[in-house]
Amino acid sequence: MKAAIISDVHSNLEALQAVEKSMEDLGVDEVHFVGDAVGYGPDPGNCIRWIMDNTSMMVMGNHDSAAAGLMGPGSFNPNAKAALVWNIGQMEEQELDFLRSLPMRQSEGDVTLVHANPMDPGGWNYIFSLWDAEMNFPFFEGSFCFVGHSHQAVVVAMDPQGSVNVVSGNGFSIEEGHRYLVNVGSVGQPRDGNPSACFGLLDTERGQFSFIRTPYDFSQTQRKMMEAGLPKPLIDRLAEGR
Ligand code: ZN
Repeated sequence: MKAAIISDVHSNLEALQAVEKSMEDLGVDEVHFVGDAVGYGPDPGNCIRWIMDNTSMMVMGNHDSAAAGLMGPGSFNPNAKAALVWNIGQMEEQELDFLRSLPMRQSEGDVTLVHANPMDPGGWNYIFSLWDAEMNFPFFEGSFCFVGHSHQAVVVAMDPQGSVNVVSGNGFSIEEGHRYLVNVGSVGQPRDGNPSACFGLLDTERGQFSFIRTPYDFSQTQRKMMEAGLPKPLIDRLAEGR
């Protein structure tokens, strides 16, 4: 079984379509979505429709929650807030209903999904340090917890003795008795200096997890954002991956 895990699409249809092509090439069987379908970018409705049609497990992100009217945008910076307001104006009622219906966490078998962190999903705190990661391990069951939110791909592993370490590189071989907290990066707005779309690939047959980077034509997305009058820093950052 090959599962793709995608997060932080942020209304970027060109990135999502490139990722879809990449999934086809890889022979992906199912897709899980870790939240933030909307916000920042120019195509909220099409991205939501794709997620509705193509994903099996899914959870809510903070931008989804704010778009759905479940929380205020008080924690958003002015650019994020302006893009959110524009995004809301583009969406149909059915799409907003879908965002509203997303669960905060979802678990099935060995896999848990939650956008920010499993300890307090609705607090939307980031996992930035090894200590943040370690504190979150008791709050999920099974081998894998997939998160997003920071837009930076990273793996933290806990060995059978309970010590935690960052796993470097583009992937890892799954080890017996180990547990993994994995940030799958961002499809639509990577922030690690690499503008290519990022997602996770869990191959349970081969016992492997990998990060897949997929280049896409971000100039198209930027052009749409300019036409929509979205904030310039949000347009510029797509080319820089920050
Ligand atoms: Zn996000």
